[in-house]
Amino acid sequence: EPKIRIGIAGYGNLGKGVEFAISQQPDMELAGIFTRRDPDSVHPVGDRVSVYPLANVEDYTEEVDVMILCGGSRADLPEQGPALAKLFTTVDSFDTHAKIPEYFDALEEAAKPAGTTALLSVGWDPGLFSLNRLYGETVLADGVTYTFWGKGLSQGHSDAVRRIEGVKNAVQYTIPSDEAISKVRAGEQPELSTREKHVRECYVVLKEGADAAAVEETIVTMPDYFADYDTTVSFISEDEMQQNHSSMPHGGFVIRSGKTGNGTNQVMEYSLTLDSNPEFTSSVLTAYARAAHRLNKSGQHGAKTVFDVPPGLLSPKSPAQLRKELL
Ligand code: NAP
Repeated sequence: EPKIRIGIAGYGNLGKGVEFAISQQPDMELAGIFTRRDPDSVHPVGDRVSVYPLANVEDYTEEVDVMILCGGSRADLPEQGPALAKLFTTVDSFDTHAKIPEYFDALEEAAKPAGTTALLSVGWDPGLFSLNRLYGETVLADGVTYTFWGKGLSQGHSDAVRRIEGVKNAVQYTIPSDEAISKVRAGEQPELSTREKHVRECYVVLKEGADAAAVEETIVTMPDYFADYDTTVSFISEDEMQQNHSSMPHGGFVIRSGKTGNGTNQVMEYSLTLDSNPEFTSSVLTAYARAAHRLNKSGQHGAKTVFDVPPGLLSPKSPAQLRKELL
């Protein structure tokens, strides 16, 4: 079997994580990195890795089996996703939950006629957490599903703050409420408002002369991202940012609390504790690249999500090996 040739579109945190993750997969090789920046200014971890201009990406359709899209969800993927899905089978981590339906439609329109497969919103949330929400509500049909995030740095939310005018650098932490989690684990099925489950903390470095009050107002009122949460904004120096806020931990819980029989309590819990959110997300993307390749080869074209992927397709092991070793 020839190895699956992976392209990386965009070389930020996820791009670097995908480069690492490919080296841990027995049946994959890195075909190249594609960037909007000057390729000479981008330095991959491996020494024999080629970096190409993203503008010439259509010249590489014969050399790449699956393109893993590592751009940001807010500004990059809405444009890059459909454009690249016309040329390649793709996997991405689009995580603006409210906009997934319209993003799906755009990818479907690009991928279907091109005969490619575009696997969107892969990662842990959306991604592995979405699957666990589905398992929970299907198995415990009478119940409530809870998702808690953190404590952790949210890349999507940090990105959104960084794009605000006057912001030089920013990080955002999401913190779950201990009290809320304990009640859920005890099977109490509390009704929790968005505000009761988590708080959001932003640490922001301003550009010189920026208006702090205006930046704070833009953050706390941002729809989809902050408007529904208690958000605190702290302004700090670049030195403090480098010293106290440079790692990217994250994690969280998906808990389904349900009842079976005559009111019997059942609680399902899935949890992640991640020292590096991007390295983990990249590992999920890379495993799903194998599935995307197999779906495409089997004629399943168009936009797909984690709900459409049979779990066995993720594994390099054969179905017989999976039955023997994992079932
Ligand atoms: P990032 O580091 O900001 O990279 C995004 C893009 O910015 C890169 O593709 C790169 O494109 C460009 N870039 C990177 N470094 C740069 C630099 N020094 N100067 C100029 N441009 C640079 O973002 P990320 O941390 O990889 O995250 C990407 C997205 O992943 C997030 O927006 C988030 O939505 C998503 N995500 C999803 C999940 C999930 O569970 N589904 C989890 C985590 C993150 P070029 O190489 O083309 O310039």
